[in-house]
Amino acid sequence: MIESRIKQTVRDVHDFPTPGIIFKDITPILKDPALCIDITAALARQLSNVEIDVVAGIESRGFLFGPSLAQLLNVPFIPIRKAGKLPYKTIQESYDLEYGSATIECHQDALLKGQRVLIHDDLLATGGTVVAASKLIMHMEATVAAYSFIISLDFLNGRTRLKPYGNEVFSLASY
Ligand code: AMP
Repeated sequence: MIESRIKQTVRDVHDFPTPGIIFKDITPILKDPALCIDITAALARQLSNVEIDVVAGIESRGFLFGPSLAQLLNVPFIPIRKAGKLPYKTIQESYDLEYGSATIECHQDALLKGQRVLIHDDLLATGGTVVAASKLIMHMEATVAAYSFIISLDFLNGRTRLKPYGNEVFSLASY
């Protein structure tokens, strides 16, 4: 079963990046090509009933499986990046962090009006990042089709935070 294979492979790193956080390190997954293929297929299978025009991956670990998922779904991939990394004209969205704020952006021509966008990242924690990504997509007059993660930390209630957006939240391994 894919969930147990993911949980057996992911490495818990305690107190990274700050004390009290248990960081779910997915880099051991990348050393197992068969598991990578099976994860991509499982992500795509979960989405079989969702109409998707574009996969948007969140920097940076959303870039690990996002492009292969998009290729399997036969749709384009677009990167959503931290401010200042994309070379062309961008549209931005700022959001609050525990201390301070952050800004994400994508190229202004990344999406067409009305496109249905799957937001993909490696992990759902509080949901703050994907809420900001959802607002960015809506500002571009596109629609969020669904959310897709490899891991969700359900005790942090990110799913509840995504409810107002009314889209389905998929993950392969929940804690
Ligand atoms: P959030 O906005 O709180 O949902 O945080 C999600 C983003 O932070 C994702 O891009 C994750 O990769 C990263 N992240 C947050 N918490 C963790 C964690 N415990 N382990 C690994 N990555 C995390």
